[in-house]
Amino acid sequence: MQSGLNTGLQISMLASGSTGNATFIQSAQRKILVDAGLSGKKVIELLQSIGVDANELDAIFVTHEHTDHIKGVGVLARKFHLPVYANEGTWQAMEHSLGKIQDKEIFEMGKTMTFGDIDIESFGVSHDAAAPQFYRFHKDQKSFVMLTDTGYCSDAMRGIIKNADAYLMESNHDLEMLRMGSYPWPLKQRILGDYGHLSNDDGADVMQEVLGDKTKRIYLGHLSRENNLKEIAHLTMENNLREHDLGVDYDFKVYDTDPEEATPLFSL
Ligand SMILES: [Zn+2]
Ligand SMILES: [Zn+2]
Repeated sequence: MQSGLNTGLQISMLASGSTGNATFIQSAQRKILVDAGLSGKKVIELLQSIGVDANELDAIFVTHEHTDHIKGVGVLARKFHLPVYANEGTWQAMEHSLGKIQDKEIFEMGKTMTFGDIDIESFGVSHDAAAPQFYRFHKDQKSFVMLTDTGYCSDAMRGIIKNADAYLMESNHDLEMLRMGSYPWPLKQRILGDYGHLSNDDGADVMQEVLGDKTKRIYLGHLSRENNLKEIAHLTMENNLREHDLGVDYDFKVYDTDPEEATPLFSL
């Protein structure tokens, strides 16, 4: 697909949500997955739905060891002989659940590595996993930031993710729905805490501060099935940005993701 393109990145959120996460990123030289938190079979189908053959994949990058991020990693790595990249803490935490992996690669938190024609910058986040890290992908002055699974966004993180062309930004829960919902109190506390997830309001607050003149696309990610609705997440983001006089719909657009359906491949 798009084989004539020599520049830029093409991206699809294959699936996003508390039930499973996977993102596909390709350049002229590389095709990668970030996380594969659904069955291997489902990830292969999602790739097919955007016209990508899983045989063409070059690697899987893992953010952290939670099941909604690694469920299909072992199966896919074995089936397609893929190297798997994660930091050392994450490797220790997930190794037993992945099964045998031929090519284990260490990608240390805070480091930038060059993978083919893509520069990949990793940064730590605040989440109840061993050593969770997310990524900013750079290619030809364009960049894509992924940030979900974090209880808050520190000033240092805000600095790292500033003014990207596109974002996958966490909008995990609506505060009211979570408070009124059926989750037991300890689980509510976990989600709301510093090592939990960004609420719709938190995600909007981060975006209004970090977006810049390059920013064209904001994808709302990792929505909770129980404690959120696409419409509420979408409105919360747009209303917050409009209140700050930011150009929703003309400078940039807000997009939904889905737990079971890939977003159309877009180019940066
Ligand atoms: Zn998650
Ligand atoms: Zn997680």
